[in-house]
Amino acid sequence: MKRTFRGQILTLILCLITTLGFSQSKEIKIEFLGNCGLYLTDGKTSIYTDFPYKSGAHGYMDFEETELDSIKENSIFIFTHKHSDHYSDKNIKKVIKEKGGKKYGSWNIDELRNLGESIPNFSIQAFKTDHKWSSKHYSYLITWHHKKIFLSGDTESAETIGTIKNMDWAFVPYWILLDAKENDIKIDTNMFGVYHLATVQIPSAKKNYDEIENMKPMVEQGEKITIKLLED
Ligand SMILES: [Zn+2]
Repeated sequence: MKRTFRGQILTLILCLITTLGFSQSKEIKIEFLGNCGLYLTDGKTSIYTDFPYKSGAHGYMDFEETELDSIKENSIFIFTHKHSDHYSDKNIKKVIKEKGGKKYGSWNIDELRNLGESIPNFSIQAFKTDHKWSSKHYSYLITWHHKKIFLSGDTESAETIGTIKNMDWAFVPYWILLDAKENDIKIDTNMFGVYHLATVQIPSAKKNYDEIENMKPMVEQGEKITIKLLED
């Protein structure tokens, strides 16, 4: 009898833990797809940034065709600019034709700025930023469930990101870190995701950034970041 009672208590405790675990499992998941390509989801809305690009363009990361097949239906695609290591007209057309969804960038930037009207607890700021060979480059600050995620894209300058307060994750190429250092610009973020690494740069990126607590070099395609959320 005693044992059964104990068993029941144990089961009850386990149930409670499981229930609590589920109710606290609100999170934003970010998957690294390659270059500046990220997949972000809160479990309801799917957002892709700078993806799909042209696999292997300019000596940067390639990806399997199956990666396109696994794109979620009715997603939102946000692009910083149209260089082929960030954007592929052919790939995005194919994906949207097969799975629906909509693409955003310099061509419909006002629509993009209004995305918050259709996604719960979401807003996006678009910053016109400089980039060689592109007159239409934007960096973005996403605020989603009160978390701030900055997407630098390809811009060479840390000036814009230097004006933003209290970021949770800043996704930046390594040259932004160098530019910030050189010009004494402080970047106010909890975590850095160092992205847009070419394959040949991976060993040195690992060496330089792996040991630093608030820096994550984005080197392995498919790796995931989880941002825990408090209740909205
Ligand atoms: Zn570019």
